[in-house]
Amino acid sequence: MKEIKTRQELIKAYIKFFQSKKHREIPSSSLIPQNDPTVLFTTAGMHPLVPYLLGTPHPLRTKRLVNVQKCIRTQDIDEVGDKTHHTFFEMLGNWSLGDYFKKEAIEFSFEFLTKTLGIPTKKLAISVFKGDKDAPKDEESSKIWQNLGIPEERIAYLPKKDNWWGPAGTTGPCGPDTEMFYWTSEKPVPKKFNPEDEKWVEIWNDVFMQYNKTPEEKYEPLKQKNVDTGMGVERTITILNGLNDNYETSLFKPIIDQIEKISNKKYKGNERAMRIIADHLKAATFILGDERGIEPSNIGQGYVLRRLIRRAIRYGKLLGINHSFTSKISKFVLPIYPDYQELHKNHNFIKQELAKEEERFSKTLEKGLREFNKLSKDKLISGKEAFLLFQSYGFPIEMTEELADEKGIKVDLEEYNKEFKRHQDLSRTSSGGMFKSGLADDSEQTKKLHTATHLLNEALRKVLGKEIKQKGSTSKEN
Ligand code: ATP
Ligand code: MG
Repeated sequence: MKEIKTRQELIKAYIKFFQSKKHREIPSSSLIPQNDPTVLFTTAGMHPLVPYLLGTPHPLRTKRLVNVQKCIRTQDIDEVGDKTHHTFFEMLGNWSLGDYFKKEAIEFSFEFLTKTLGIPTKKLAISVFKGDKDAPKDEESSKIWQNLGIPEERIAYLPKKDNWWGPAGTTGPCGPDTEMFYWTSEKPVPKKFNPEDEKWVEIWNDVFMQYNKTPEEKYEPLKQKNVDTGMGVERTITILNGLNDNYETSLFKPIIDQIEKISNKKYKGNERAMRIIADHLKAATFILGDERGIEPSNIGQGYVLRRLIRRAIRYGKLLGINHSFTSKISKFVLPIYPDYQELHKNHNFIKQELAKEEERFSKTLEKGLREFNKLSKDKLISGKEAFLLFQSYGFPIEMTEELADEKGIKVDLEEYNKEFKRHQDLSRTSSGGMFKSGLADDSEQTKKLHTATHLLNEALRKVLGKEIKQKGSTSKEN
């Protein structure tokens, strides 16, 4: 058997494996969700599959699907800079639409990890749902793992916060999940799995949609039980190459090399800044290159794009880069992904838009930084001042917050938001929390509805909620 080391080998092996288990391959969808105006980006492979998870028969007349999906998670932006979280990443996924359930799903995951990828069982650990007043401990999944050879001390039982999917709103389908972790250190693998230890990195998650949470806060069994899994390509490639930093793999190395060259600095010692630049510019390249043709602007996806580019530019400045560099870096993203036709087709557009945005921002960045330094002498940036930095120098509020943070001073966010509202000739979608939440607007209601792992459950809830009322059933198919 050929060893799997590269992204393309991994994707091919995954698709082939699940095809051999009767799954049909579907293409990667756009990064911009087609049917859900409440979220800005596709955050997981299940996003485009919502109707089929609800029971609409799939056009391919199958209950088993597999694919690789390009994803953007702005919710993880604060973690970007570590070794394992990205704004843009690819997710491998397999789905059962009311077909197989826990046993097969876990057995498939185990077989793929240990047989196809050749990962030794002794380097794996598992988490399952601990149980609470709403649903029992997931003994079933735990038993299945143990039967496959995972020792009991390598299985952690965790609460809803860690091992439960949805509902993101107040009602809707949800259920326990089981996550697979890999030991990324050279040190001997500890006998007992401690999920707090960061050397255990999560690589794959099998979600079992098995309950429906009712408006009375009851958890009723769902009729159509689905499986929804997600495996991170970057993290898996890292471990298959015996590394422990995603940025050292072929998925990032060419970009990091280029940043080293341009900045005349070494990755070592500048990891965080270089990771952020590489991550943000890769994400920007994918957003610009998407089928849907997004460009930097002050609303919606365009504003997320603008902030990613501007943050990368600021980190470039911190590394001492004094000339235009974003489109140069972006050029090195493309060869990593030869199979995303849209990137290559839109290559010129990507280059032009990056250069334009960089030029726009470079004009004001220096002046804005000088202004910031003046303002920050007072130990507090008032809302009015933060708004001035936004309006006159194009500083996204997070950038002002980040700059303030570095100096150990505060920004009056509340006043900023008030100020922002007062000047609301811009769309409300461009304000505050949207960047980090990934939501299409920043209303409290929307935020509440989208706090959990996946942002899609509200869409499920709306449809399912209606059905439950109408038919007392959650399934169209069964
Ligand atoms: P973590 O707790 O590490 O943030 P998660 O629980 O948010 O992961 P899931 O939502 O279960 O992850 O996503 C499924 C898989 O996708 C994960 O097991 C991981 O391999 C990958 N993944 C999730 N978020 C990211 C990210 N920001 N960057 C890279 N890979 C990711
Ligand atoms: Mg996460």
